[in-house]
Amino acid sequence: MDENRVGYVSFQDILSLNQEHCKVRDRQAVERIINEFIWGGPERMQMVSDFDFTITKQRTDDGIAVLSSFGIFNNCKSLPPHYKEESDKLFNKYRPIEIDPHMPIPEKVQYMIEWWTKSGQLTSGFPFDLAEIDQGAGQFKNALRDRTHELFDSLRQLQIPVLVFSAGLGNSVVSVLQQANILYPNVKVISNFLKYSDGMLAGFQEPMIHTFNKNETVLDGSEYYELVHTRDHIIVMGDSLGDAHMAAGVPASSHILKIGFLFEHVEANMEKYMNTFDIVLVDDQTMDVPRALLGLIERRHQLRHPHIAPNDAALQLSAL
Ligand SMILES: [Mg+2]
Repeated sequence: MDENRVGYVSFQDILSLNQEHCKVRDRQAVERIINEFIWGGPERMQMVSDFDFTITKQRTDDGIAVLSSFGIFNNCKSLPPHYKEESDKLFNKYRPIEIDPHMPIPEKVQYMIEWWTKSGQLTSGFPFDLAEIDQGAGQFKNALRDRTHELFDSLRQLQIPVLVFSAGLGNSVVSVLQQANILYPNVKVISNFLKYSDGMLAGFQEPMIHTFNKNETVLDGSEYYELVHTRDHIIVMGDSLGDAHMAAGVPASSHILKIGFLFEHVEANMEKYMNTFDIVLVDDQTMDVPRALLGLIERRHQLRHPHIAPNDAALQLSAL
């Protein structure tokens, strides 16, 4: 991308990327990718986002803790008395393995499959009313990052496919997005969904989505893959290091911009996050940065297609 090209946007002119809490290791590379995105237009874009603590906040203004999608389920009143205790035991055994910085990934994958399998067995053989999840999820429809609605509105208007990719519980994810009125037709949730058999819970539907297969390779052959595999400009958002790999499986020529939300143990994690994500946002509980990027793409798009949005697109661009 030629820096002297008319309309080339330089890093320092994108205000939201120049905020104190926005950390970027390689400003030139980020500038180049953003200009590719702007020139490629919305037709080539897709977004892939984690759900827990990425679409939901890591910290709320009123200090109320946001539950994860599995947390919403575990909190349901009608679960058998032993459920919570057993599921905590599994968590305490396998979670340290999941985040162990030393164990090789293939070894971890075996443990993750064990964890998901045992958890599926535990989530079997009792009746469960999905309305309970809706009740729990309803409490968190307002715990989404500030201006999530505006972000999803832009994505819908620009017809950019959004994949919400979660190793959590899909039923909770869908319920929160639905109750927040942002589960638009361009939004697809890939996650673990409850399975029923004869009116009883029977674990989770296949394929199991865990931390280490949470990437576009599990989409191979699916309808969604057909929809997005030609969209080679990708924004990836997540709060865990593993989320950075969610676009793995797309063609190598793709341009991928990875945005990481860092909140806990900022100093200890900073180096790893900086090495993993292109943009690291420290305690940023908003969607302002992805919105700014979409805004740039949208403005150029309007300039090229003035009949679509005849309002003052040129003016907006000059005001950047
Ligand atoms: Mg997360």
